[in-house]
Amino acid sequence: MQKEVILLKLGEVALKGLNRRAFEDVLLKTIRRRLQGAGQFTVTSLQSTVYVEPKDDTADMDLAEERCSKVFGVVGYTRAGAAEKDLQKVCEKAAEYLKDTLEGVSTFKVECKRSDKKFPYKSPEICNEVGGYLLEHFPHLSVDVHHPGVTVWVEIREACAYVHADSKPGAGGIPVGTGGKAAVLISGGLDSPVAAWCMAKRGVELTAIHFASPPYTSELAHEKVVRLLRKVSEYAGRIKMITVNFTKLQEAIRDHCQEDLNTVILRRFMLRAAEQIAKAEDCAALITGESLGQVASQTIQAIACTDAVAAMPVFRPLIGSDKAEIVKLAYQIDTYDISIEPYEDCCTIFTPKHPRTRPILHFVEQAEKAIDGEALLKESLEQVETLYITPYDYAGGKELK
Ligand code: ATP
Ligand code: MG
Repeated sequence: MQKEVILLKLGEVALKGLNRRAFEDVLLKTIRRRLQGAGQFTVTSLQSTVYVEPKDDTADMDLAEERCSKVFGVVGYTRAGAAEKDLQKVCEKAAEYLKDTLEGVSTFKVECKRSDKKFPYKSPEICNEVGGYLLEHFPHLSVDVHHPGVTVWVEIREACAYVHADSKPGAGGIPVGTGGKAAVLISGGLDSPVAAWCMAKRGVELTAIHFASPPYTSELAHEKVVRLLRKVSEYAGRIKMITVNFTKLQEAIRDHCQEDLNTVILRRFMLRAAEQIAKAEDCAALITGESLGQVASQTIQAIACTDAVAAMPVFRPLIGSDKAEIVKLAYQIDTYDISIEPYEDCCTIFTPKHPRTRPILHFVEQAEKAIDGEALLKESLEQVETLYITPYDYAGGKELK
C-alpha cells in the first residue's frame, strides 16, 4: 500500500451515457502519458474517480499533481493519505495527514464514502469516530456541518482507506481527442493561444498553423509561437505545428491590391491555406482568436468577407470576450508573458494606414484579382515546415525551456 495517492474527480465524462467508457479510456491514456517522467504510477478508474497511485517511493508527487491539474475532463483533484482499513488507523491517518490543514481552520466536518460495503462500520459511525478523534487532538476545532472551514473526507475502498481534504478545481472540460480534430491559426499574439486552449478544453485535438513571412518576420518570432504552443500543449497534449511561408503572397498583396483591403485579403488567403492544410491533416474545422470589434479585420463585415472563402466551420471561441477576459485566461494558462514579448507578426507588417472596417465582398473579390492568388497559394503550401510540440521532455521528465 502506498502512503499517498492522487484522486481525480471526473466531470462531464461521467454523464455521457454509452460513450462513457470510450471517454474514460481516452482520459486514462492521457493521464498515463502526462505522468511520464514523474515516476511509475498505476492509473485506474472507479465510480467517476481516477486513482493515481505511485508504484514506489521515488515518484514525484508534486509534479504528478501539477500534470493532473492540466488534464481536461477532470473537474477536481486532491492528494489523499492511505490507511489500513481499521477505524483507529483511519482516525490516526486523518489527524497526521491533514495536520497542517486542520491547524489552519477553526471548523470542520467529516464526510464518508463507503464503497466497500463489507466494512463493519457504517458511514455515520465512521464520521462520528473520525470527528471525535479530531476534536480530541485539535482542541481549537469545532464542528460546523453547514459552512466548515474544511471537509475531511474518508473513503473506504476495497484495498484500503483514504483520507483527504476538499478537492482543488481541475481543468474541467472534456478529454482531448473525444471532440475530433481542428486546426488553429496561431500567431504570437495574446488571443490565438487562448482560443486554442478553449477548444482543446472542449475535447478538440489541435493542429497548429502559423504563417511566417521571413525576412520581415524573424526566427525569434517563430520561436515565440513554439513556446506559446508548448504552454498550450501542457493541456492539449501533442500539437503538430505547420509553418507556412507567406512572404511572396504578402508582397504581392502589398504591391498590387487596393491598399485599404489588404488586411482582409491577407486573411482570406490565410483561411484558404489553412483549410487546405486542415483537410490534409484530417481536421474538420478551423479555429481563430478573433474577438468582435477588436481590430478592423474583426468587424462582422470583415469576418463575413473572410469566411466567404472557407467551407469548413471556423470556430472563434473568443468572439464575445473582452480583452480583459482574454488576458485573465492568458495568465491562467501562463501564455501572457510570452505573448506580450514584442515580436513582429505577418499580420502587423505592411498594414494599411486606413484598413476598411466594413469591406464589401464584391469589391474584395475584385481587388483580389490583381494577383495570381492560386499560384501564390500553391507556392506557399509547398513551403511548409512541420514540428511536433510536446509539453514535456518525457525522457528526462523535465519541462523544456
Ligand atoms: P492574436 O492575439 O491571436 O494575434 P489579434 O487580436 O492580434 O489576435 P489578428 O492579428 O488580426 O488579431 O489575428 C486574428 C487571428 O488570425 C488570430 O487570432 C489568429 O487566429 C490568426 N492569425 C493572425 N496572425 C497569424 C499568423 N501569423 N499565423 C497564423 N494565424 C494568424
Ligand atoms: Mg495578432
